Amino acid sequence: MDTMLNVLEDRALELSVARDAAPDGNWRIARDDENIAWLVLDRPGKSVNTIDRSVLEELDLHLAALEADRPRGLVIRSAKPGGFAAGADINGFVGASREAVRDMLGEGHRVLDRLAALPFASVAVVHGHCLGAGLELALACRMRIAVSNATLGFPEVMLGLHPGLGGTFRSIALADPVEAMSLMLTGKSAPARKARKIGLVDAVVEERHVTNAVHAAIFGDLVRPDPSLRAKAFSLKPARALAARQMRAKAREKARPETYPAPFALIDLWEEHGGRPDRMREAELESFAKLIETPTAQNLVRVFFLRETMRGLRRGKSGIRRVHVIGAGAMGGDIAAWAAREGFAVTLQDIALEPIGRAVKSASKMLEATLKDPLKVRDALDRLVPDPEGQGVLGADLVIEAAPEKLDLKRKILQDAEARMKPGAILATNTSALPLPDLAETLADPSRFVGIHFFNPVSRMQLVEIVRHDAISDETLRRATSFVVELSRLPAPVRPSAGFLVNRALTPYIAEALKMVDEGIPKERIDARAEEFGMPMGPIELADQVGLDIAVEVADTLRERLHMPLPETPGWMHEMIRDGRLGRKTGRGLYEYDADGKPKKAKLEALPDGSPDDAALIDRLILPMLNTLVAALREGVAESEEIVDGAMVFGTGFAPFRGGPMRYARERGVDQIVARLTELEISHGTRFRPDKGWDRL
Ligand code: NAD
Repeated sequence: MDTMLNVLEDRALELSVARDAAPDGNWRIARDDENIAWLVLDRPGKSVNTIDRSVLEELDLHLAALEADRPRGLVIRSAKPGGFAAGADINGFVGASREAVRDMLGEGHRVLDRLAALPFASVAVVHGHCLGAGLELALACRMRIAVSNATLGFPEVMLGLHPGLGGTFRSIALADPVEAMSLMLTGKSAPARKARKIGLVDAVVEERHVTNAVHAAIFGDLVRPDPSLRAKAFSLKPARALAARQMRAKAREKARPETYPAPFALIDLWEEHGGRPDRMREAELESFAKLIETPTAQNLVRVFFLRETMRGLRRGKSGIRRVHVIGAGAMGGDIAAWAAREGFAVTLQDIALEPIGRAVKSASKMLEATLKDPLKVRDALDRLVPDPEGQGVLGADLVIEAAPEKLDLKRKILQDAEARMKPGAILATNTSALPLPDLAETLADPSRFVGIHFFNPVSRMQLVEIVRHDAISDETLRRATSFVVELSRLPAPVRPSAGFLVNRALTPYIAEALKMVDEGIPKERIDARAEEFGMPMGPIELADQVGLDIAVEVADTLRERLHMPLPETPGWMHEMIRDGRLGRKTGRGLYEYDADGKPKKAKLEALPDGSPDDAALIDRLILPMLNTLVAALREGVAESEEIVDGAMVFGTGFAPFRGGPMRYARERGVDQIVARLTELEISHGTRFRPDKGWDRL
């Protein structure tokens, strides 16, 4: 990337025309000695470029000036090392009305149309991230050159939207329409070479060849790929109708139109107007403005900001480089692998060699799947060092204990580690249920002890609970929180209460589902309804995934320590556990599992959708979860509704389109929920009694 900055600097030196007069503007403009104008996006005070109204308004002024004093050609690029642009500035859409959004986008369209209509060649040179509105800006240029590290994509669908600045009609006109639709429908990004293959960019070059490539483009020497035959075929509506049907079926496998309307709106848009860019342009505006008002988009935007809030908990650098993990089991192995992936030097200890071997094997699988590049995989594996003797403790900045959940064992491990750690190092436990004060009290210096509670599997669950206790120092808490963000995970600070936040909330949900099975409700139906509500996995499958032994143990702990009125564990569950039917890990639990670890589910007997029984079923599952979260908030286990929502979305996958459980409660109405809990208390028992905390909401 230095090379790119050098090129820009060299250009700037060569330039005969002064830089943009406004020093705090978003753009810098200059002409080189061949009368090529270089328009460089460099938003002041930001590490990445985003596109907002001011960027487009200033662009409009520059375009007007260029039309008046024509250059030989125009190059648009970014001065940010990380990439071209990360997309639209979402703040611009928060709380805006449909009309305001429509006007704002209409203005944006006008500017990009002006760019597209320039009477001289225009070239976007993109590197790094070129996403959303950034890509739409590039698409409005006549040509696109991608530096080989570029990734291009339309992430709007993840916010319940589709492109709104001309991306829908420009991408399908330039690229293979089915491929372009697939990018927009999945939100996945394409690396530069794939983008070239599908026609989204015209050339891919190394940074050092950018100047030559720009010249070739502007002086007409760049051979652009022909619009594919496919593009021509799809200009006819019957062809689009057929493809649209397939796209809808595929989209339906992932999401339901009622809860995620955006992909379906995009398919409609293309089917209807894909042959007429002018019509599609208008329809795109309307459709986007309609989507932005949907609760789904509003909630997904909220989830986007929840992530930012949690990342924003980082205060300075953690100062952690070396991590030592004790216990190479399911969690320790995963934590070590993920830390190595994220650039930390990791040592991994266990009393036995076999778990370490297994951990390294599964690390290599995870790294291959998530990093893809063999060189990066090799580097990450080099950073993961098996350490059966535990020598790594001596030099570690952070020691994480992930041994079995036994108080005496953990106490001993922590004490031994503490005695050997260097001054200033942090000692952490990954315990799910043991009270932190009980572990802290046998340490010489509990101020540097903290709970760092990961979720399983670490590579997929972004949440990490940071558990404090009375003797912890602010500095330990600060460094642990920053470490989690440096690990690309999301920290949720919690107080040490049994089950902390997330497991405490999931337990009544699972326990109620088991009670339903006991009542004779088919488990497939319970899971299906929970999934329709938006949970990534139903509670029965979740119980199997957690392990029935663990699920029962956690429920017992919560009953005992928090006097939580959970339904009793059915007797047949105890029998299953005695028989070793523990869930997915043993291949048999509430479901049977196939060789790929997938549950074999019986076909559901037809029950009309939305039948009253099912609404009651969902309330019985979800409301105790909400009730528990409200209790946790009242007790100060979590400090805010935002943290609760973030923790549940990123720790359990709680329906993101609902914006989190507290948002769901607010949307449905606190009074309404309290009334419903009271009804359930009357019909099903005191475990549904509304918590006092609802009064304060
Ligand atoms: P596990 O049984 O899979 O792994 C524990 C490992 O610790 C084993 O490999 C064992 O050989 C090793 N070990 C035992 N005594 C040791 C010692 N003295 N020194 C070094 N290593 C020793 O357990 P797990 O599921 O990975 O759980 C570990 C911790 O993480 C527990 O506290 C658990 O509550 C917590 N946790 C588990 C999950 C989960 O889903 N499994 C999720 C979050 C947190």
